[in-house]
Amino acid sequence: MSDVKYEAVIGLEVHCQLLTDSKAFSPEAAMFVLEPNTQVDFVSVGYPGTLPVLNRRVVEYAVRFGLATGCSIRSRSTLARKHYFYPDLPKGYQISQYEDPICYDGELVLPEEEQKRIRIKRIHIEEDAGKSIHDRGDRNTLLDFNRCGVPLLELVTEPDIRSPADAAAFVRSIRQIVRYLGICDGNMEEGSLRCDANVSVRPSNSDELRTKTEIKNLNSIRHLEQALEHEIARQINVWSAGEAVQQETRLWNPDSSSTRVMRSKEMAHDYRYFPDPDLPPVVVASDMLEAIRSGMCELPDARRRRFGQRLALSDYDSALLTEEKHVADYFENVVDHMEGHELEISAKAAANFIMSTALNDLTNEGADPVAPDRVAALLELRLDGDLSSSAAIEVFECMKTDPRLPGELAEEMSLLQVSDVSVIVPLVDAVLTEHRPQVEQYLGGKHGVIGFLIGKVMKQSAGAADPTVVRELLIRKLEALRT
Ligand code: ADP
Ligand code: MG
Repeated sequence: MSDVKYEAVIGLEVHCQLLTDSKAFSPEAAMFVLEPNTQVDFVSVGYPGTLPVLNRRVVEYAVRFGLATGCSIRSRSTLARKHYFYPDLPKGYQISQYEDPICYDGELVLPEEEQKRIRIKRIHIEEDAGKSIHDRGDRNTLLDFNRCGVPLLELVTEPDIRSPADAAAFVRSIRQIVRYLGICDGNMEEGSLRCDANVSVRPSNSDELRTKTEIKNLNSIRHLEQALEHEIARQINVWSAGEAVQQETRLWNPDSSSTRVMRSKEMAHDYRYFPDPDLPPVVVASDMLEAIRSGMCELPDARRRRFGQRLALSDYDSALLTEEKHVADYFENVVDHMEGHELEISAKAAANFIMSTALNDLTNEGADPVAPDRVAALLELRLDGDLSSSAAIEVFECMKTDPRLPGELAEEMSLLQVSDVSVIVPLVDAVLTEHRPQVEQYLGGKHGVIGFLIGKVMKQSAGAADPTVVRELLIRKLEALRT
Protein backbone atom coordinates (compact mmCIF):
# COMPACT_ATOMS: atom_id res chain seq x y z
CA MET A 1 0.00 0.00 0.00
CA SER A 2 1.28 3.44 -0.89
CA ASP A 3 0.51 6.38 1.38
CA VAL A 4 -0.55 8.76 -1.40
CA LYS A 5 -3.53 10.91 -0.44
CA TYR A 6 -6.14 11.24 -3.15
CA GLU A 7 -8.75 13.85 -3.89
CA ALA A 8 -11.86 13.51 -6.02
CA VAL A 9 -12.51 15.45 -9.23
CA ILE A 10 -16.16 15.60 -10.19
CA GLY A 11 -18.07 17.13 -13.11
CA LEU A 12 -21.83 16.89 -13.43
CA GLU A 13 -24.23 16.73 -16.35
CA VAL A 14 -27.76 17.73 -15.32
CA HIS A 15 -30.78 17.25 -17.55
CA CYS A 16 -33.90 19.29 -16.86
CA GLN A 17 -37.20 18.38 -18.44
CA LEU A 18 -38.98 21.61 -19.29
CA LEU A 19 -42.48 22.55 -18.18
CA THR A 20 -43.62 23.66 -21.61
CA ASP A 21 -47.15 22.97 -22.84
CA SER A 22 -46.01 21.40 -26.09
CA LYS A 23 -42.93 19.48 -27.21
CA ALA A 24 -39.63 20.97 -28.41
CA PHE A 25 -40.32 20.72 -32.15
CA SER A 26 -43.93 19.59 -32.52
CA PRO A 27 -47.34 20.58 -31.20
CA GLU A 28 -48.44 17.63 -29.03
CA ALA A 29 -48.58 18.03 -25.26
CA ALA A 30 -45.31 17.60 -23.41
CA MET A 31 -47.02 16.74 -20.14
CA PHE A 32 -46.45 13.29 -18.64
CA VAL A 33 -49.38 10.91 -19.16
CA LEU A 34 -49.76 7.33 -18.04
CA GLU A 35 -51.33 5.88 -21.18
CA PRO A 36 -48.42 4.98 -23.52
CA ASN A 37 -48.17 6.31 -27.07
CA THR A 38 -51.07 8.74 -26.81
CA GLN A 39 -49.00 11.90 -27.24
CA VAL A 40 -47.06 11.06 -30.35
CA ASP A 41 -47.02 13.31 -33.39
CA PHE A 42 -45.47 12.42 -36.75
CA VAL A 43 -42.63 14.89 -36.17
CA SER A 44 -41.41 13.46 -32.87
CA VAL A 45 -41.02 9.95 -34.28
CA GLY A 46 -39.43 11.25 -37.47
CA TYR A 47 -41.87 10.37 -40.22
CA PRO A 48 -40.36 11.26 -43.60
CA GLY A 49 -41.58 14.56 -44.92
CA THR A 50 -42.23 16.12 -41.53
CA LEU A 51 -40.50 19.31 -40.43
CA PRO A 52 -39.59 20.28 -36.87
CA VAL A 53 -40.33 23.83 -35.68
CA LEU A 54 -38.59 25.05 -32.54
CA ASN A 55 -40.87 25.95 -29.61
CA ARG A 56 -39.93 29.53 -28.62
CA ARG A 57 -40.66 28.80 -24.95
CA VAL A 58 -37.73 26.39 -25.00
CA VAL A 59 -35.42 29.21 -26.07
CA GLU A 60 -36.87 31.51 -23.42
CA TYR A 61 -36.39 28.87 -20.69
CA ALA A 62 -32.81 28.20 -21.83
CA VAL A 63 -32.02 31.91 -21.60
CA ARG A 64 -33.61 32.17 -18.15
CA PHE A 65 -31.56 29.23 -16.92
CA GLY A 66 -28.40 30.67 -18.46
CA LEU A 67 -28.91 34.10 -16.91
CA ALA A 68 -29.64 32.55 -13.53
CA THR A 69 -26.34 30.66 -13.64
CA GLY A 70 -24.19 33.55 -14.83
CA CYS A 71 -23.78 32.24 -18.37
CA SER A 72 -23.14 34.21 -21.52
CA ILE A 73 -25.95 33.84 -24.01
CA ARG A 74 -25.12 33.12 -27.63
CA SER A 75 -27.13 35.31 -29.98
CA ARG A 76 -26.99 32.65 -32.70
CA SER A 77 -26.55 28.91 -32.05
CA THR A 78 -26.99 25.71 -34.01
CA LEU A 79 -29.32 22.76 -33.54
CA ALA A 80 -27.45 19.58 -34.47
CA ARG A 81 -28.33 15.95 -35.04
CA LYS A 82 -26.73 13.50 -32.64
CA HIS A 83 -26.97 10.00 -34.06
CA TYR A 84 -27.28 6.76 -32.21
CA PHE A 85 -29.34 3.66 -32.61
CA TYR A 86 -31.60 2.55 -29.85
CA PRO A 87 -35.21 1.37 -30.03
CA ASP A 88 -36.53 4.31 -27.98
CA LEU A 89 -35.13 6.76 -30.55
CA PRO A 90 -37.17 6.02 -33.66
CA LYS A 91 -35.67 8.89 -35.72
CA GLY A 92 -32.16 7.47 -35.27
CA TYR A 93 -30.94 10.83 -34.06
CA GLN A 94 -31.66 13.27 -31.30
CA ILE A 95 -31.84 17.00 -31.98
CA SER A 96 -29.30 18.64 -29.66
CA GLN A 97 -26.57 21.27 -29.70
CA TYR A 98 -22.89 20.56 -30.13
CA GLU A 99 -20.13 23.12 -30.66
CA ASP A 100 -22.10 26.28 -29.98
CA PRO A 101 -24.52 25.74 -27.09
CA ILE A 102 -27.00 28.55 -26.41
CA CYS A 103 -25.46 29.29 -22.96
CA TYR A 104 -21.81 28.99 -21.94
CA ASP A 105 -19.23 30.01 -19.33
CA GLY A 106 -21.41 30.36 -16.27
CA GLU A 107 -20.79 29.89 -12.59
CA LEU A 108 -22.65 28.76 -9.50
CA VAL A 109 -21.54 29.59 -5.97
CA LEU A 110 -22.37 26.85 -3.49
CA PRO A 111 -24.49 28.18 -0.61
CA GLU A 112 -22.15 27.21 2.22
CA GLU A 113 -19.56 29.13 4.17
CA GLU A 114 -16.60 28.57 1.88
CA GLN A 115 -18.66 29.86 -1.07
CA LYS A 116 -17.04 27.45 -3.51
CA ARG A 117 -17.35 28.41 -7.15
CA ILE A 118 -18.33 25.78 -9.70
CA ARG A 119 -17.82 26.80 -13.31
CA ILE A 120 -20.56 25.91 -15.75
CA LYS A 121 -19.25 24.93 -19.14
CA ARG A 122 -22.48 25.01 -21.09
CA ILE A 123 -26.25 24.70 -21.15
CA HIS A 124 -27.75 23.38 -24.36
CA ILE A 125 -31.16 22.60 -25.80
CA GLU A 126 -32.08 19.05 -26.73
CA GLU A 127 -35.04 16.73 -27.08
CA ASP A 128 -35.73 13.66 -24.98
CA ALA A 129 -35.98 10.10 -26.31
CA GLY A 130 -38.83 7.67 -25.67
CA LYS A 131 -38.93 5.13 -22.92
CA SER A 132 -38.18 1.40 -23.06
CA ILE A 133 -40.13 -0.71 -20.62
CA HIS A 134 -38.21 -3.90 -19.82
CA ASP A 135 -39.36 -5.17 -16.48
CA ARG A 136 -42.73 -6.67 -17.33
CA GLY A 137 -41.88 -10.22 -16.31
CA ASP A 138 -41.50 -11.52 -19.87
CA ARG A 139 -38.66 -11.21 -22.36
CA ASN A 140 -40.29 -8.47 -24.39
CA THR A 141 -39.38 -4.81 -24.27
CA LEU A 142 -42.21 -2.35 -24.81
CA LEU A 143 -41.77 1.14 -26.20
CA ASP A 144 -43.54 4.30 -25.15
CA PHE A 145 -42.90 7.27 -27.44
CA ASN A 146 -44.80 9.87 -25.39
CA ARG A 147 -41.51 11.32 -24.15
CA CYS A 148 -39.98 11.58 -27.66
CA GLY A 149 -39.37 15.25 -28.37
CA VAL A 150 -40.05 16.51 -24.84
CA PRO A 151 -37.72 19.51 -24.38
CA LEU A 152 -34.65 19.24 -22.16
CA LEU A 153 -31.90 21.58 -21.10
CA GLU A 154 -28.59 19.92 -20.35
CA LEU A 155 -26.18 21.74 -18.06
CA VAL A 156 -22.54 20.60 -17.94
CA THR A 157 -20.10 21.73 -15.26
CA GLU A 158 -16.33 21.96 -15.44
CA PRO A 159 -14.64 19.34 -13.22
CA ASP A 160 -14.59 21.76 -10.27
CA ILE A 161 -16.45 19.74 -7.65
CA ARG A 162 -14.26 18.06 -5.01
CA SER A 163 -16.59 15.99 -2.86
CA PRO A 164 -19.84 14.02 -3.01
CA ALA A 165 -21.34 16.47 -0.50
CA ASP A 166 -20.55 19.41 -2.79
CA ALA A 167 -21.98 17.52 -5.76
CA ALA A 168 -25.17 17.08 -3.76
CA ALA A 169 -25.20 20.76 -2.79
CA PHE A 170 -24.74 21.72 -6.44
CA VAL A 171 -27.68 19.63 -7.61
CA ARG A 172 -29.81 20.94 -4.75
CA SER A 173 -29.02 24.49 -5.84
CA ILE A 174 -29.79 23.76 -9.47
CA ARG A 175 -33.06 22.12 -8.50
CA GLN A 176 -34.03 25.13 -6.42
CA ILE A 177 -33.14 27.53 -9.25
CA VAL A 178 -35.12 25.71 -11.96
CA ARG A 179 -38.11 25.57 -9.63
CA TYR A 180 -37.82 29.30 -8.89
CA LEU A 181 -37.59 29.99 -12.62
CA GLY A 182 -40.64 27.82 -13.23
CA ILE A 183 -38.90 25.97 -16.05
CA CYS A 184 -38.74 22.46 -14.52
CA ASP A 185 -40.45 20.80 -11.56
CA GLY A 186 -37.10 19.42 -10.35
CA ASN A 187 -38.49 16.00 -9.47
CA MET A 188 -35.59 13.53 -9.57
CA GLU A 189 -37.61 10.46 -8.60
CA GLU A 190 -39.88 10.98 -11.59
CA GLY A 191 -36.94 11.76 -13.85
CA SER A 192 -37.76 15.37 -14.68
CA LEU A 193 -34.36 16.29 -13.25
CA ARG A 194 -31.63 13.76 -14.14
CA CYS A 195 -28.00 13.79 -13.27
CA ASP A 196 -24.93 11.94 -14.55
CA ALA A 197 -21.73 12.18 -12.53
CA ASN A 198 -18.22 12.13 -14.03
CA VAL A 199 -15.53 11.34 -11.52
CA SER A 200 -11.81 10.72 -11.31
CA VAL A 201 -9.31 10.84 -8.46
CA ARG A 202 -5.80 12.26 -8.31
CA PRO A 203 -3.10 12.80 -5.69
CA SER A 204 -4.19 15.74 -3.50
CA ASN A 205 -2.74 19.09 -4.48
CA SER A 206 -1.85 17.96 -7.99
CA ASP A 207 -3.79 19.45 -10.86
CA GLU A 208 -3.61 16.61 -13.35
CA LEU A 209 -6.84 15.22 -14.74
CA ARG A 210 -6.86 11.44 -14.66
CA THR A 211 -9.15 9.04 -16.47
CA LYS A 212 -12.76 9.50 -15.42
CA THR A 213 -15.75 7.24 -15.26
CA GLU A 214 -19.30 8.37 -15.76
CA ILE A 215 -22.08 7.15 -13.47
CA LYS A 216 -25.64 7.04 -14.75
CA ASN A 217 -29.01 6.12 -13.29
CA LEU A 218 -28.90 8.44 -10.29
CA ASN A 219 -32.49 9.24 -9.43
CA SER A 220 -32.08 11.03 -6.15
CA ILE A 221 -29.54 13.28 -4.50
CA ARG A 222 -28.87 10.60 -1.92
CA HIS A 223 -28.03 8.11 -4.66
CA LEU A 224 -25.74 10.65 -6.29
CA GLU A 225 -23.82 11.06 -3.05
CA GLN A 226 -23.66 7.34 -2.32
CA ALA A 227 -22.62 6.43 -5.84
CA LEU A 228 -19.83 9.00 -5.79
CA GLU A 229 -18.55 7.82 -2.39
CA HIS A 230 -18.51 4.29 -3.69
CA GLU A 231 -16.87 5.12 -7.02
CA ILE A 232 -14.20 7.33 -5.45
CA ALA A 233 -13.22 4.53 -3.04
CA ARG A 234 -13.12 2.05 -5.92
CA GLN A 235 -10.84 4.28 -8.03
CA ILE A 236 -8.48 4.95 -5.12
CA ASN A 237 -8.16 1.18 -4.64
CA VAL A 238 -7.38 0.71 -8.34
CA TRP A 239 -4.62 3.34 -8.37
CA SER A 240 -3.26 2.22 -5.00
CA ALA A 241 -2.91 -1.32 -6.34
CA GLY A 242 -0.69 0.04 -9.11
CA GLU A 243 -3.37 -0.39 -11.77
CA ALA A 244 -5.11 2.20 -13.94
CA VAL A 245 -8.76 3.28 -13.90
CA GLN A 246 -10.44 2.51 -17.21
CA GLN A 247 -12.64 5.05 -18.95
CA GLU A 248 -16.13 3.64 -18.86
CA THR A 249 -19.76 4.36 -18.14
CA ARG A 250 -21.05 2.70 -15.00
CA LEU A 251 -24.59 2.18 -13.75
CA TRP A 252 -25.54 2.77 -10.13
CA ASN A 253 -27.53 -0.02 -8.58
CA PRO A 254 -29.28 1.33 -5.49
CA ASP A 255 -30.27 -2.15 -4.30
CA SER A 256 -26.69 -3.40 -3.99
CA SER A 257 -25.19 0.10 -3.42
CA SER A 258 -22.58 -0.51 -6.08
CA THR A 259 -21.82 0.40 -9.67
CA ARG A 260 -21.28 -1.92 -12.62
CA VAL A 261 -19.88 -1.34 -16.07
CA MET A 262 -22.44 -0.34 -18.68
CA ARG A 263 -20.07 0.36 -21.54
CA SER A 264 -16.33 0.74 -21.92
CA LYS A 265 -14.33 3.18 -24.00
CA GLU A 266 -14.16 0.73 -26.90
CA MET A 267 -17.91 0.91 -27.13
CA ALA A 268 -17.99 4.72 -27.02
CA HIS A 269 -20.37 6.24 -29.54
CA ASP A 270 -19.43 8.20 -32.58
CA TYR A 271 -22.43 10.46 -32.72
CA ARG A 272 -21.66 11.93 -36.18
CA TYR A 273 -22.98 15.34 -35.17
CA PHE A 274 -23.95 17.74 -37.93
CA PRO A 275 -26.21 20.79 -38.12
CA ASP A 276 -29.83 19.78 -38.61
CA PRO A 277 -30.65 20.92 -42.14
CA ASP A 278 -34.35 21.19 -41.25
CA LEU A 279 -33.81 23.85 -38.58
CA PRO A 280 -32.60 27.43 -38.87
CA PRO A 281 -30.15 28.78 -36.26
CA VAL A 282 -31.55 29.66 -32.84
CA VAL A 283 -31.49 33.45 -32.67
CA VAL A 284 -31.69 35.37 -29.40
CA ALA A 285 -32.08 39.00 -30.41
CA SER A 286 -30.98 41.64 -27.92
CA ASP A 287 -34.54 42.87 -27.28
CA MET A 288 -35.64 39.31 -26.50
CA LEU A 289 -32.66 38.89 -24.18
CA GLU A 290 -33.49 42.12 -22.35
CA ALA A 291 -37.17 41.22 -22.06
CA ILE A 292 -36.27 37.89 -20.49
CA ARG A 293 -33.67 39.47 -18.22
CA SER A 294 -36.08 42.09 -16.92
CA GLY A 295 -38.78 39.47 -16.32
CA MET A 296 -36.55 37.30 -14.12
CA CYS A 297 -37.56 36.72 -10.50
CA GLU A 298 -35.19 37.28 -7.62
CA LEU A 299 -33.08 34.12 -7.23
CA PRO A 300 -32.96 32.04 -4.04
CA ASP A 301 -29.45 33.09 -3.06
CA ALA A 302 -30.15 36.82 -3.35
CA ARG A 303 -33.46 36.42 -1.61
CA ARG A 304 -31.90 34.52 1.28
CA ARG A 305 -29.33 37.26 1.75
CA ARG A 306 -31.98 39.99 1.57
CA PHE A 307 -34.10 38.25 4.23
CA GLY A 308 -31.03 38.27 6.46
CA GLN A 309 -30.00 41.85 5.81
CA ARG A 310 -33.27 43.75 5.35
CA LEU A 311 -35.55 41.73 7.62
CA ALA A 312 -32.93 40.66 10.19
CA LEU A 313 -33.94 37.01 9.96
CA SER A 314 -31.47 34.34 11.08
CA ASP A 315 -29.59 32.31 8.46
CA TYR A 316 -31.68 29.31 9.38
CA ASP A 317 -35.00 31.14 8.98
CA SER A 318 -33.91 32.77 5.72
CA ALA A 319 -32.81 29.46 4.23
CA LEU A 320 -35.98 27.67 5.28
CA LEU A 321 -38.32 30.40 4.04
CA THR A 322 -36.59 30.74 0.67
CA GLU A 323 -36.36 26.99 0.05
CA GLU A 324 -39.43 27.22 -2.17
CA LYS A 325 -40.43 30.33 -4.06
CA HIS A 326 -44.13 30.18 -3.23
CA VAL A 327 -43.38 29.93 0.50
CA ALA A 328 -41.06 32.95 0.31
CA ASP A 329 -43.72 34.84 -1.68
CA TYR A 330 -46.38 33.97 0.89
CA PHE A 331 -44.15 35.07 3.77
CA GLU A 332 -43.40 38.42 2.12
CA ASN A 333 -47.04 38.90 1.31
CA VAL A 334 -47.95 38.42 4.98
CA VAL A 335 -45.26 40.88 6.09
CA ASP A 336 -46.42 43.44 3.51
CA HIS A 337 -49.89 43.37 5.08
CA MET A 338 -48.58 43.97 8.60
CA GLU A 339 -48.49 47.71 9.07
CA GLY A 340 -48.87 48.20 12.79
CA HIS A 341 -45.33 47.29 13.83
CA GLU A 342 -41.72 47.75 12.84
CA LEU A 343 -40.67 45.77 9.80
CA GLU A 344 -38.20 43.53 11.63
CA ILE A 345 -40.70 42.71 14.36
CA SER A 346 -43.42 41.88 11.83
CA ALA A 347 -40.97 39.77 9.83
CA LYS A 348 -39.86 37.77 12.85
CA ALA A 349 -43.47 37.16 13.92
CA ALA A 350 -44.49 36.10 10.40
CA ALA A 351 -41.43 33.87 10.02
CA ASN A 352 -42.04 32.11 13.34
CA PHE A 353 -45.72 31.63 12.66
CA ILE A 354 -45.27 30.33 9.12
CA MET A 355 -42.48 27.94 10.04
CA SER A 356 -44.23 26.56 13.10
CA THR A 357 -47.85 26.57 12.00
CA ALA A 358 -48.60 27.37 8.37
CA LEU A 359 -45.82 25.55 6.47
CA ASN A 360 -47.73 22.29 6.09
CA ASP A 361 -50.58 24.02 4.30
CA LEU A 362 -48.12 25.72 1.98
CA THR A 363 -46.16 22.66 0.98
CA ASN A 364 -48.93 20.05 0.91
CA GLU A 365 -50.43 19.86 -2.51
CA GLY A 366 -54.18 20.28 -2.38
CA ALA A 367 -54.19 22.28 0.86
CA ASP A 368 -55.66 25.75 0.51
CA PRO A 369 -53.60 28.21 2.55
CA VAL A 370 -55.31 31.03 4.47
CA ALA A 371 -54.97 34.32 2.56
CA PRO A 372 -51.82 36.26 3.57
CA ASP A 373 -53.73 39.44 4.52
CA ARG A 374 -55.84 37.44 6.99
CA VAL A 375 -52.75 35.83 8.52
CA ALA A 376 -51.28 39.33 8.81
CA ALA A 377 -54.39 40.51 10.72
CA LEU A 378 -54.05 37.54 13.05
CA LEU A 379 -50.38 38.27 13.73
CA GLU A 380 -51.16 41.94 14.42
CA LEU A 381 -53.57 40.82 17.16
CA ARG A 382 -50.85 38.60 18.55
CA LEU A 383 -48.24 41.38 18.49
CA ASP A 384 -50.69 43.79 20.12
CA GLY A 385 -51.05 41.33 22.97
CA ASP A 386 -54.71 40.63 22.20
CA LEU A 387 -54.06 36.92 21.65
CA SER A 388 -51.78 34.42 23.37
CA SER A 389 -49.68 32.25 21.08
CA SER A 390 -51.83 29.19 21.69
CA ALA A 391 -55.00 31.24 21.10
CA ALA A 392 -53.53 32.49 17.81
CA ILE A 393 -53.12 28.89 16.66
CA GLU A 394 -56.71 28.09 17.66
CA VAL A 395 -58.04 31.07 15.74
CA PHE A 396 -55.86 30.16 12.76
CA GLU A 397 -57.39 26.67 12.64
CA CYS A 398 -60.87 28.23 12.44
CA MET A 399 -59.77 30.67 9.76
CA LYS A 400 -59.13 27.74 7.43
CA THR A 401 -62.86 27.16 7.14
CA ASP A 402 -64.39 30.43 8.37
CA PRO A 403 -63.95 33.52 6.20
CA ARG A 404 -64.52 36.02 9.03
CA LEU A 405 -61.81 38.31 10.36
CA PRO A 406 -59.57 36.83 13.06
CA GLY A 407 -60.63 39.48 15.61
CA GLU A 408 -64.26 38.53 15.20
CA LEU A 409 -63.47 34.82 15.52
CA ALA A 410 -61.30 35.38 18.60
CA GLU A 411 -64.07 37.34 20.27
CA GLU A 412 -66.65 34.68 19.52
CA MET A 413 -64.31 32.01 20.88
CA SER A 414 -63.63 34.19 23.99
CA LEU A 415 -59.93 34.09 23.25
CA LEU A 416 -59.19 37.80 23.21
CA GLN A 417 -56.87 38.70 26.03
CA VAL A 418 -56.69 42.03 27.79
CA SER A 419 -53.40 43.86 27.71
CA ASP A 420 -54.83 47.30 28.38
CA VAL A 421 -52.93 48.56 31.43
CA SER A 422 -55.82 50.70 32.70
CA VAL A 423 -57.92 47.53 32.98
CA ILE A 424 -55.22 45.40 34.61
CA VAL A 425 -53.78 47.87 37.18
CA PRO A 426 -56.87 47.88 39.46
CA LEU A 427 -56.82 44.05 39.51
CA VAL A 428 -53.11 44.05 40.43
CA ASP A 429 -53.69 46.58 43.21
CA ALA A 430 -56.55 44.52 44.65
CA VAL A 431 -54.47 41.32 44.66
CA LEU A 432 -51.54 43.04 46.36
CA THR A 433 -53.78 44.40 49.11
CA GLU A 434 -55.50 41.09 49.65
CA HIS A 435 -52.35 38.94 49.83
CA ARG A 436 -50.04 40.79 52.22
CA PRO A 437 -48.15 37.65 53.41
CA GLN A 438 -47.07 36.82 49.84
CA VAL A 439 -46.07 40.44 49.24
CA GLU A 440 -43.87 40.31 52.36
CA GLN A 441 -42.32 37.05 51.15
CA TYR A 442 -41.48 38.62 47.82
CA LEU A 443 -39.92 41.66 49.43
CA GLY A 444 -37.97 39.30 51.69
CA GLY A 445 -36.32 37.80 48.61
CA LYS A 446 -38.65 34.89 47.75
CA HIS A 447 -39.21 35.96 44.16
CA GLY A 448 -40.82 32.65 43.16
CA VAL A 449 -44.02 33.78 44.87
CA ILE A 450 -44.66 36.01 41.84
CA GLY A 451 -46.25 32.98 40.14
CA PHE A 452 -48.88 32.82 42.87
CA LEU A 453 -49.68 36.51 42.47
CA ILE A 454 -49.88 36.29 38.68
CA GLY A 455 -52.30 33.41 39.08
CA LYS A 456 -54.52 35.51 41.36
CA VAL A 457 -54.66 38.42 38.88
CA MET A 458 -55.38 36.05 36.01
CA LYS A 459 -58.22 34.61 38.03
CA GLN A 460 -59.58 38.09 38.76
CA SER A 461 -59.61 38.79 35.02
CA ALA A 462 -61.35 35.48 34.32
CA GLY A 463 -58.29 34.36 32.37
CA ALA A 464 -58.44 37.24 29.93
CA ALA A 465 -55.44 39.31 31.03
CA ASP A 466 -52.21 39.10 29.07
CA PRO A 467 -49.87 37.25 31.49
CA THR A 468 -46.81 39.13 30.22
CA VAL A 469 -48.40 42.47 31.06
CA VAL A 470 -49.61 41.17 34.44
CA ARG A 471 -46.11 40.01 35.36
CA GLU A 472 -44.54 43.33 34.37
CA LEU A 473 -47.08 45.38 36.33
CA LEU A 474 -46.77 43.17 39.42
CA ILE A 475 -42.99 43.44 39.46
CA ARG A 476 -43.12 47.20 38.96
CA LYS A 477 -45.59 47.66 41.86
CA LEU A 478 -43.72 45.29 44.18
CA GLU A 479 -40.40 46.95 43.51
CA ALA A 480 -42.02 50.34 44.19
CA LEU A 481 -43.07 49.05 47.65
CA ARG A 482 -39.40 48.67 48.66
CA THR A 483 -38.79 52.44 48.79
P1 ADP B 1 -16.79 13.82 -22.69
O1 ADP B 1 -16.13 14.26 -23.94
O2 ADP B 1 -16.30 12.53 -22.16
O3 ADP B 1 -18.26 13.95 -22.69
P2 ADP B 1 -16.55 16.38 -21.47
O4 ADP B 1 -15.31 17.15 -21.61
O5 ADP B 1 -17.73 16.74 -22.30
O6 ADP B 1 -16.22 14.83 -21.61
O7 ADP B 1 -16.97 16.44 -19.96
C1 ADP B 1 -18.07 15.75 -19.48
C2 ADP B 1 -18.13 15.96 -17.99
O8 ADP B 1 -17.03 15.30 -17.37
C3 ADP B 1 -18.02 17.40 -17.57
O9 ADP B 1 -18.91 17.63 -16.52
C4 ADP B 1 -16.59 17.54 -17.11
O10 ADP B 1 -16.49 18.51 -16.09
C5 ADP B 1 -16.31 16.18 -16.54
N1 ADP B 1 -14.90 15.78 -16.62
C6 ADP B 1 -14.07 15.91 -17.67
N2 ADP B 1 -12.86 15.40 -17.38
C7 ADP B 1 -12.93 14.92 -16.12
C8 ADP B 1 -12.00 14.24 -15.23
N3 ADP B 1 -10.78 13.94 -15.60
N4 ADP B 1 -12.46 13.91 -14.02
C9 ADP B 1 -13.70 14.17 -13.63
N5 ADP B 1 -14.59 14.79 -14.39
C10 ADP B 1 -14.23 15.15 -15.63
MG1 MG C 1 -20.33 15.05 -22.84
